Amino acid sequence: MTKIIAALIISLVMASCAFAEGLEVLTLVETQGQSDTGLLVNASDSLKAEYFPDGKMPSQILAFWVKVGDNGILFDAGLRAGNIPAELSTKGIDTENVKTILLTHLHGDHYGGLVNAEGKAAFPNAEVYVSKPEYDYWVNELKNDSVISALKLYKVNQFAFGDEVVAGVRAIDTSGHTPGHVSYLAESGGEKILIAGDIMHFQTIQLPHPEVAVKYDVDPVKAVQSRKFLLDYAAEKHIAVAGMHIMLPGVLDITKSGEGYTGK
Ligand SMILES: [Zn+2]
Repeated sequence: MTKIIAALIISLVMASCAFAEGLEVLTLVETQGQSDTGLLVNASDSLKAEYFPDGKMPSQILAFWVKVGDNGILFDAGLRAGNIPAELSTKGIDTENVKTILLTHLHGDHYGGLVNAEGKAAFPNAEVYVSKPEYDYWVNELKNDSVISALKLYKVNQFAFGDEVVAGVRAIDTSGHTPGHVSYLAESGGEKILIAGDIMHFQTIQLPHPEVAVKYDVDPVKAVQSRKFLLDYAAEKHIAVAGMHIMLPGVLDITKSGEGYTGK
């Protein structure tokens, strides 16, 4: 009897350790659609036609739920009320149980879903984390009403580039797309992943041609530098990259290839 109990305890301890150690990544789909190649910057018409002969590019908006050890973290919140909560609920996660939301930046397709259809906090028990330069740009400099009213619903924590934002998650400066855009390096039990926000929007052309930018980039030159920096880092360290506009499943292993990259 004692032996059985001891064996049970040992197996439970081992199970809970195994559970706490690694990373668990869930891709949450906000929407999928198409975008026009007119969004691209630094791309000639012939280059656009080479990758997108009909002028249409596949596009998607994603968010990610990552368990870092025992801590479940929502990375970005999608565009519209209800979509990411619905995705979470199909995976057995209640909005009340979302405690930590890390935002990569403050574009509408990343923070819009913080607000529910009644104008209240979609994640009533969550604290939101955003980089200080990003907060300063949208709230203090642009005084953007919709950003301000969405963030008002939450306790908002600001952090600096390079900070360990929560246990096991560090913010990497990948500014350019927006002034405070960050990518997050999450690590647990020897496993790592980069949650890279808008490090690229249209991988079909931006992996082989990382110099191609998009009209949404606040500083396209810096956005290109940040893309190359992060993809070089991911390729050298063999760390998978999850991105909010990467085609499903939203996660790529990156390899250097000439002046650009391949991903699969
Ligand atoms: Zn975006």
